[in-house]
Amino acid sequence: MAYFVSQLTGERFSADDAVWCDPQGGLLDLITEQPFLHERIVTDDFSMWRYRHAIPIDDDEAIISFGEGMTPLIEVEFAGTAILVKLEYLFPTGSYKDRGASVLISQARRLGINRVIEDSSGNAGSAIAAYCARAGMDCDIYAPASTSPSKITQIEKFGATCHQVPGSRDATAEVAKQSANNCFYASHVWNPYFLQGTKTFAFEVCEQLGWTAPDCIIIPTGNGTLLLGAYIGFGELVDAGVIQCIPPLIAVQSAGCAPLYNAWLRDATGPVLDETQSTMAEGIAIADPARGSEILAAVRATDGEFVAVSENEIRTAHQQCAAQGLFVEPTSATAIAGWQKLEHNYGMPVIPLTGSGLKSGLR
Ligand SMILES: *Cc1c(COP(=O)(O)O)cnc(C)c1O
Repeated sequence: MAYFVSQLTGERFSADDAVWCDPQGGLLDLITEQPFLHERIVTDDFSMWRYRHAIPIDDDEAIISFGEGMTPLIEVEFAGTAILVKLEYLFPTGSYKDRGASVLISQARRLGINRVIEDSSGNAGSAIAAYCARAGMDCDIYAPASTSPSKITQIEKFGATCHQVPGSRDATAEVAKQSANNCFYASHVWNPYFLQGTKTFAFEVCEQLGWTAPDCIIIPTGNGTLLLGAYIGFGELVDAGVIQCIPPLIAVQSAGCAPLYNAWLRDATGPVLDETQSTMAEGIAIADPARGSEILAAVRATDGEFVAVSENEIRTAHQQCAAQGLFVEPTSATAIAGWQKLEHNYGMPVIPLTGSGLKSGLR
């Protein structure tokens, strides 16, 4: 049986409780006791649910899935250097957030929930809204008023109510948390079940590399939902003896909003809040990431690093991707830009291309 543990007090809570934080408002971790077992992979399921045994949903009947996952891992070249990119924009709603939404909404259904709320800069909101539509659940999404109109349209077309909140992404999170008091908060940031979905990214990469670890992973990072999922997933593969150690995780932030990069520079253990500027990388413009300390610890534990990239660097990388037929969001291009700036040679990286360019409304 899986259970929650408070990061603040160490107190345990049943995973059957519809909680998203401890009574003091502290973050929860989910402890699962379902080790990754190579021989239990459902090899004729070509979705992330092939790793069903390692995903802590007790009841098969509760699973809400569009057959998502197993995204292609392909080799591409930038300026003559080959890297591997994983096409995480090829999900039903156009971003890797579907990994987390599939698991989180499955758990909500298992708990008999019929209404959820979520806040997001757009992609997590559309993912949660789509899975709620498939589950027949009511859904309220809070998004910054500045969110790309195509993401808002997508959320509303899925039948969710979209509340547009003036101000920053963090202001949106505050409003949503207030409203979450009396209903299920399907937060991709707070609810640990989301990371149980994003961890399948690590399983897929490893399987696609013939059960070896990549040299490093480079991830656009705001709230760290893919980075922390990867950390958990690779950690489970280490525990299972499939790989020796978790590959270096390299987190890329936009220079316009870089609380974790700033913390890295100053050797701090939590986000360093500085003035922020607006950025094309709207998916990672998080001034005060709730799991910031965890992200810093994960990157340090894997001998990775933080990189910050400018608007010009993002624009260039975005264009370089498009010129090769990879139409991604500017947020996703940050990882390519970050890789091009690395001074240390980690070897051949795997870079997730996290979101579809069709949603960003960019010209
Ligand atoms: C959510 C998202 C990310 C990563 O964001 P986190 O805040 O670190 O979870 C990266 N790219 C895109 C397109 C996203 O939607």
